[in-house]
Amino acid sequence: MRLTRLFLLTTGLLLSLVTALLLRSVWVDWHTVSTAETGLAAMQRAYLAMQVAEKASAERGPANQVLSDGEPADPAKRTRLAQFRHATDAAFEAADAALAQAPAGAAAIGLVELRQARQELARARAELDRVAALPHALRSAPGARVTRSPVDAMFAVIDTLFGGVTTLSAEAEAIYPELALSLVGARHAAELREYAGRLGSEFNTPLATQAPLTRGEQHAIQRLEGRIEQLRRLISLQARRADAPLRRAVERMEARYFGENLPFVHELTARGQAGQAYGVDAAAFVARYVPPMGSIVELRDTLFEAGRQAASARVAATRERLIVNLALGLAVLGIELGVFLLIRHRVLKPLLSSTRTMTAIMQGRVPPPDQTLPTDRDDEIGAMQRAVAALRDATLRSRALEAEREQLIEQLRVASDTDFLTGLPNRRAFTERADGLLAQARRHGWPVALLVFDLDHFKRINDLHGHQVGDRVLRTAAAIARDEVRAGELLARHGGEEFVVLAPDCGPDQALQLAERLRAALADAPVATADGQELRISASFGLACTPARGLPDLDRLFHAADQALYAAKSRGRNRVVLAGAPVMTAQDAG
Ligand code: GH3
Ligand code: MG
Ligand code: MG
Repeated sequence: MRLTRLFLLTTGLLLSLVTALLLRSVWVDWHTVSTAETGLAAMQRAYLAMQVAEKASAERGPANQVLSDGEPADPAKRTRLAQFRHATDAAFEAADAALAQAPAGAAAIGLVELRQARQELARARAELDRVAALPHALRSAPGARVTRSPVDAMFAVIDTLFGGVTTLSAEAEAIYPELALSLVGARHAAELREYAGRLGSEFNTPLATQAPLTRGEQHAIQRLEGRIEQLRRLISLQARRADAPLRRAVERMEARYFGENLPFVHELTARGQAGQAYGVDAAAFVARYVPPMGSIVELRDTLFEAGRQAASARVAATRERLIVNLALGLAVLGIELGVFLLIRHRVLKPLLSSTRTMTAIMQGRVPPPDQTLPTDRDDEIGAMQRAVAALRDATLRSRALEAEREQLIEQLRVASDTDFLTGLPNRRAFTERADGLLAQARRHGWPVALLVFDLDHFKRINDLHGHQVGDRVLRTAAAIARDEVRAGELLARHGGEEFVVLAPDCGPDQALQLAERLRAALADAPVATADGQELRISASFGLACTPARGLPDLDRLFHAADQALYAAKSRGRNRVVLAGAPVMTAQDAG
């Protein structure tokens, strides 16, 4: 696998892992936060239900006063009852509204009990109003317990409400178990408040009628006290582990309710049992007994508040953890991405680029310029890049030198093959190329012609007009000959004032025509001398041919052409002589 792909793959894997971890942690935290919030909301609903129970319970005080009212009726007592009823109704409304806002599913919890309690309360109130309307004598007759039924009905309302409170707080505890301790404590305190109220209620009729306690009343008082003691123990058990505000609230309740009210109740009970005078009427009892019960409600609220604060603190802590986790996770992701980009940019890219350069050098191509080359990197990659760059420069330099050398060699080769005066191929080059042409002719079975021509009386031109004019004559002759020969025919200066033309695929007739054309052209071309005169030149031509499929040989051709040239000279110059017989090779002759 390629390094870049491997790197990409591992980085991608790492990134996804970190992202998954991050998402999971965020999800868990989010879940904790939302659970705590739901728990808190459920706890709030339970608290509202407790308040309904508290208000409905408190309504019993003024209700008892109305029931035991003399004649004519005291409107102030009725007004007070109406106010308390109003407070209960308001608490019902608040709880109802909170339950209606609860999320689907949770809304039904506690609602049944609450509605039922409301109906029961309405019936209890109606019954109370009915009994209260009875003549005073009927209500206050000793032993006549007509007032009992509305009071019992109101007790039943509270029992139903406590059922709702338990259901609601159980829901909150189930959602958020951390709330359990405070909620259970708050519920105990609420119950304690209720039983304390009931205990007080037991004295209402006896005190109103100033009658001794009946056996039933004595039993009820005993039962209630037992229940109150039970709840007191449960609460004090919790208070041991509690923090300062809660302990203070418990101490206040101990001092006020258990320190002041209970001894007072014991004293009244003792008198009621003994048939002695109570020494207080119903109103005085209420005025003394009810206010200390506030300490129980305070304790309930303190417990509730402690739970709420603990849960809120937990939510805040979880939120903070969520933010920290998120920030840390994002930082890790960012760093990882940064490292990836850094390695890619600072290691992989230079590596790839250097590899490309090295590959190009190895394959003999021109290495591409390295785009990633910084000048000031002082790390290992920088050193590698500088080394590769140095190698690249050295390679380019040596290539340039090589090219220069090749060019020089080519120049030398051309120079060594060329006659510097006329620019024609020299004898060496002619011999070399002639071999190739003859081999080609032999392969194709072509006839070949060799033409040798020599300027006439050239020595005389040199002597009469100087070497410079002689050179000019040579250049003119070369230029004329170059114009006359065709592509594929080889013209060269063979030495001195002698030139040769080798014509492959050229029969004797064609060769004669070529020689004649050349001869005439030379004879026609005047050359200017130094003093402005016109110089006439001529040349003699010796021509030798091999027939088609004659296996031409250069030496033999030269020999025959030379003899023909000699003949041309001796026959008066400025003429063409064709060697008598076609030149045969040694094989042909045989
Ligand atoms: P013929 O008609 O019999 O050929 O007489 P010729 O004078 O041409 O022959 P010869 O061999 O006697 O003379 C050739 C002369 O060509 C001799 C030499 O000085 C001269 N020559 C050879 N090469 C050059 C050259 O490059 N430049 C000049 N100016 N003269 C040259
Ligand atoms: Mg000569
Ligand atoms: Mg000559």
